[in-house]
Amino acid sequence: MTEPQLLLSFIALLTAVAGAAWFMLAYPLRVSSKASLSFALTNWLVLLGVLLLKFRTEAPSLVHWFLADALVLLAFTLLHIGIVRLFWLAQRTIPVVILLLVSLLLLLMYQQGAETELAQGIIFSSYAFILFSLCSRDIFLALRENYGRINALLMAMPALLMALLFVTRTILLLVAPVDDHRYVGIQSGEGSMMLWAFVALTLTININIIGCAMVRLISRIRYLAERDQLTGLWNRRAMLKNLDQSHQSWLRHQFPYSLIWLDLDHFKKVNDRYGHDAGDAALKHCSHVLQQQLRDEDLLGRHGGEEFLIILPGIQQEGASSAAERLRLALLEQPFIWQSESMLLTASFGVITVQPESTPQQMLQQADAAMYQAKEAGRNCWRQYSGSAAHPAEAPP
Ligand code: GH3
Ligand code: MG
Ligand code: MG
Repeated sequence: MTEPQLLLSFIALLTAVAGAAWFMLAYPLRVSSKASLSFALTNWLVLLGVLLLKFRTEAPSLVHWFLADALVLLAFTLLHIGIVRLFWLAQRTIPVVILLLVSLLLLLMYQQGAETELAQGIIFSSYAFILFSLCSRDIFLALRENYGRINALLMAMPALLMALLFVTRTILLLVAPVDDHRYVGIQSGEGSMMLWAFVALTLTININIIGCAMVRLISRIRYLAERDQLTGLWNRRAMLKNLDQSHQSWLRHQFPYSLIWLDLDHFKKVNDRYGHDAGDAALKHCSHVLQQQLRDEDLLGRHGGEEFLIILPGIQQEGASSAAERLRLALLEQPFIWQSESMLLTASFGVITVQPESTPQQMLQQADAAMYQAKEAGRNCWRQYSGSAAHPAEAPP
């Protein structure tokens, strides 16, 4: 067996095993099923393409020239679609599919075996370059927000390197003298360089995508652990952690923060009158209205039942009470609509700003105490905790 033949067999083995592993993840294990299935098909299509390539001769052959290339291009497309599915990206895959069809059409036009190898190589590599560029961009964008630019770039690097490999190949095919094309081709002895690159590609991309799938899985687990199932807001545990962090930043850097404890008024009536589903929808509606009024750095969580907690970093007494008033008015201005019936949902707010002697536990107790004062004052208003008692709001209704 010559070196290129041996390398092709190795790639075939690698893709067969990797495809089976992704298929296991997709079906019995159901880990990101759709994405994993795309990655399984990616590997198996490369396997088929490589098997056809193995029997390629210089003679024109639709199967060994066109079909082999087409299967690998389809594999690259599925890799891109898999990444879009893995990260739930709001991206349309139609332009990529159109590009694939155009590339296949061009390949079909140039499928006279070795005679048109140059044109085929250029078409193949250009498409691969575009696809790997898209994959690396998608991985980068999907991970940037939660993991930072550097980590996102590291994860996007293998796909980026593949894009560079293919653009280099395209340029070499375009500019190098005809005799030198052999070293970027795949048939000749020198072609083993390209095949080694292909082995590295298969291994690196699979490992990279496994890494991406793990990152995605960890993000999902973290989301489930930190978020409230009904509203998607931070849950109580996460809010207590956020509160601790805000307090640490106060102790270390005197960076103040305020807390708002919010309890919906007479919420039991919503359930009693319209049913539990209406109550759930009302809670979602309120979280949406509240979130709309807050800045990106504010933290809104569901503390439990119909109670919400808001941390306002960098906000002092005055800012906190005007935030509470803004939230109160927003709830009044946007009634909850259930089966064409409009319902006004109001809330009572307890507001507190961190003081030199405060502890997070005290902050919570005092915000709660202030909220109870607002309830006692007739609901649909806010009270600010200052000193030993909740301070009446200056302009409550
Ligand atoms: P108040 O103005 O004194 O706060 O009156 P309230 O009716 O809002 O307070 P109460 O504590 O008596 O009742 C809270 C209600 O919130 C009871 C419960 O049915 C409802 N509730 C809590 N969690 C959920 C939930 O997840 N879904 C629904 N639908 N209702 C919930
Ligand atoms: Mg309550
Ligand atoms: Mg209530």
